[in-house]
Amino acid sequence: MEPTQVPAWLDEHGIDWIKTEGISLDGPIIGKHIGRRKFVSALPLGNAITELVFGYDLGGTPYLAWWDDWRLAALGDIHQRPDLSTLVVAPDRPRTANVICDTVSTDGTPLPVCPRSTLRRVVDRVAEHGFTSKAAFEIEGMVFNDSIADARTRGYRGLSPMGHPAPLGYLQLNSREQLVFVDEVLTRLDGLGIPVEGWHDEAAPGQFEFNLDPADPITAADRVIRVKQVLREVAADQGRIVTFMAKVNDEYGNGLHVHHSIARDGEPVFHIPDGGEFSETARHWIGGIVASMHAAVSVLCPTINSYRRMVGFAAAPTLASWAEDNKSAALRVLPRSAKGARIEHRVAGGDANPYLAFSAIIAAGLDGVERQLVPAPPLEGSAYDADGQRMPTTLAEAVDLLDRSAFARAAFGDRVVDHYVNSGRHEV
Ligand code: GLU
Ligand code: MG
Repeated sequence: MEPTQVPAWLDEHGIDWIKTEGISLDGPIIGKHIGRRKFVSALPLGNAITELVFGYDLGGTPYLAWWDDWRLAALGDIHQRPDLSTLVVAPDRPRTANVICDTVSTDGTPLPVCPRSTLRRVVDRVAEHGFTSKAAFEIEGMVFNDSIADARTRGYRGLSPMGHPAPLGYLQLNSREQLVFVDEVLTRLDGLGIPVEGWHDEAAPGQFEFNLDPADPITAADRVIRVKQVLREVAADQGRIVTFMAKVNDEYGNGLHVHHSIARDGEPVFHIPDGGEFSETARHWIGGIVASMHAAVSVLCPTINSYRRMVGFAAAPTLASWAEDNKSAALRVLPRSAKGARIEHRVAGGDANPYLAFSAIIAAGLDGVERQLVPAPPLEGSAYDADGQRMPTTLAEAVDLLDRSAFARAAFGDRVVDHYVNSGRHEV
């Protein structure tokens, strides 16, 4: 949609308010509710918002790690430039529409703090090499039957999971119990035009998983942040809590498994036909992702808590490894069907930013193709019993590896990397 077409669209749908959805580094949506007149007059640059939205961590502690020469003066405004292709009628509030925004400077240039712009740059570069890419995310989260106010007063101890309090997965009795929550989520997602392939009860008490349809990477990541927001909103509306924290308690953690496929000239690169073997391109792509895994871990596992999930026998990877259809490996490669040939990257925690996670994954694959990297032989058996390259086990270590990574600096530029490294060190 062009800016000139917006007033007619707002008329047609009876919209008075627009909820802006900007992408923070940590994942939660940031924005304002903008009245229709202001929304239209601010196009195409979008409404102003304070830089401070990128100036504190999840706990609310201010830090100015992101200050850079693109912004010399302290505490001014930046802009939320609406991506009008994402304008949608809100399913949960009358006369309201939602729109996803890129974070840009006052002259319209995307800022290094904007994860969505980072992903777009990487996807464009992959396309310049003749590849199309698709992404599909699996969202794991946990829902508890406690109100956030009650939980706070109890220091988040002794919460009641929605479902049987044992580590059993795929139990339809648990799904049944979660239906009052999930049905409302599905209704709102349908209203937002977000297709869900399926959902199920996952293995930790109160845990669920939503599988989203494959889509182009930006759309797929946009859907992740909208789905998480809807899950949070429905939980809040119902007096419940939902969390995507990577490791909530001693049970299984929350992952964000990222599937991707690439194609060249319409041919699926990861597909092995009967009796065949991996193409050179597939090998290099896998080689690149494995080689850069250490540098990517702080992006995939962005909090101190993320590293508590990465322990043996918890279905989360511990070695920088790959194998065909092996869920203990970091990369689970599924090459046998032309239609479904893909790589499942299993490292990211539920707390990862989907835009940055996907950027780190495909930039590494492309790097492997450019430098013709070859992966070590695939993992055999369980990674939890094997020797191999262990992944960093703390955020501090992972951030140092990112800081020193020539690959990351070439792929994302110093400003994006420095910003991320600084925010990670602040978190530590
Ligand atoms: N919850 C596990 C994780 O933290 C993944 C379980 C699964 O294989 O889906 O990654
Ligand atoms: Mg799962």
